[in-house]
Amino acid sequence: FKGFIDRAPRETDMELKVGSIGGGLKAPPGSGAFLVKNLCLSCDPYMRGRMRDSRASYIPPFVPGQPIEGSGVSKVIDSDDPDFKPGDLVSGLTGWEEYSLVRKTDQLPNQLRKIEQHDVPLSYHLGLLVFGGPIQSHCTTSFVKFHGKFCETNRIQLNDAANFHGITNSLVYSQHKHLHGSTSLFMVPKNIFCAGMPGFTAYVGLHEICSLKQGDTVLVSAASGAVGQLVGQLAKLHGCYVVGSAGSRQKVDLLKSQLGFDDAFVYKEEPDLDAALKRYFPQGIDIYFDNVGGDMLDAALLNMCVGGRIAVCGMVSQHSQTDPQGIHNLFNLISKRIRMQGFLQSDYLHLFPLFFNQVLKYYKQGKITYVEDVAQGLEHAPAAFVGLFSGRNVGKQVIHVANP
Ligand code: NDP
Repeated sequence: FKGFIDRAPRETDMELKVGSIGGGLKAPPGSGAFLVKNLCLSCDPYMRGRMRDSRASYIPPFVPGQPIEGSGVSKVIDSDDPDFKPGDLVSGLTGWEEYSLVRKTDQLPNQLRKIEQHDVPLSYHLGLLVFGGPIQSHCTTSFVKFHGKFCETNRIQLNDAANFHGITNSLVYSQHKHLHGSTSLFMVPKNIFCAGMPGFTAYVGLHEICSLKQGDTVLVSAASGAVGQLVGQLAKLHGCYVVGSAGSRQKVDLLKSQLGFDDAFVYKEEPDLDAALKRYFPQGIDIYFDNVGGDMLDAALLNMCVGGRIAVCGMVSQHSQTDPQGIHNLFNLISKRIRMQGFLQSDYLHLFPLFFNQVLKYYKQGKITYVEDVAQGLEHAPAAFVGLFSGRNVGKQVIHVANP
């Protein structure tokens, strides 16, 4: 990563550097570290925010001159960490580089975790089923409220759900409610953020934010992307009517022919988005899962049903706007008693086991398809990343770096 930007990202904002790892492909003896070979990497829109020099964000900026951080699937090559052995497959926070040396710290005790599900494609641990890597933020305070009192995290007995996938030690909870009976955990300021997790994001947005129910009419934008494609499929599996908006005819065909959407349209070909939504939703929209913000959000507001719900998941259309498009129709929130809520999936990690079991089951039953767009080689990573902001990706964008 070369330096901070205040415009749409370009490939030249990143450069490929060739270097050598000191000590060859070995974890330094006595270091407690382990060396991984990165196999595939995740390309996510939130990474654009890390190219801005803003400490006010929920996630720290990248460090100029350093490899880009992101979610990945890797294989342990050598290890001085007793918890990992050569050959282990791991997922979590790694670097956009061929090899990474990983050392657990107090802040990042579970930066990479062992993959236990070996019967799904490895790259699905970046999209469909991922449990994202905890990322240290600049906020250092962390409290946990337990039975009404603040106390240290290590004095709490976490239940099975919390122990799932080694989440326990990673301090990633920012909100845990009613885990078991009277047990109630609540971590106040986020000191760690979990990145990525498109599949889980879809699940949280639909169930927690939008209270999905059978028969709802659902609109999702960026519908063929990493999050959107699962939003539509989960809503269909709950007996909803689902329409997706996407940026090309190829994507619209995919949504209708392979992903089971009831309908889909190319928003770029619609001169009047309000009229388009009236065509697809003559009775109005119960749920709008918003991945893009801007004009589509404004048009959706006009077409929401009374009591509608809007999950504000992302605003990819606004990332690089110096003059963000205005929203004119907010009064509909009041007149139609719409619930509109922004969210971060990392606030709902207690739901991860429910999500994981349900989506894995659907996948194994052949009820869910997950479409990926795979760029081959690190040298194509900058183009793949930049392509997220022009809609070049069809499905979840991943970068294949090496075979196991
Ligand atoms: P996608 O795989 O959907 O890729 C991004 C897509 O956004 C593009 O393919 C393109 O699709 C669309 N897009 C790009 N630029 C614009 C634009 N100017 N106007 C409209 N659409 C645009 O990405 P993800 O599924 O990974 O992420 C989707 C959204 O969810 C993002 O906003 C992301 O930040 C957010 N997110 C939020 C999380 C949370 O916890 N709240 C967690 C994870 C993601 P098309 O061709 O169809 O326009």
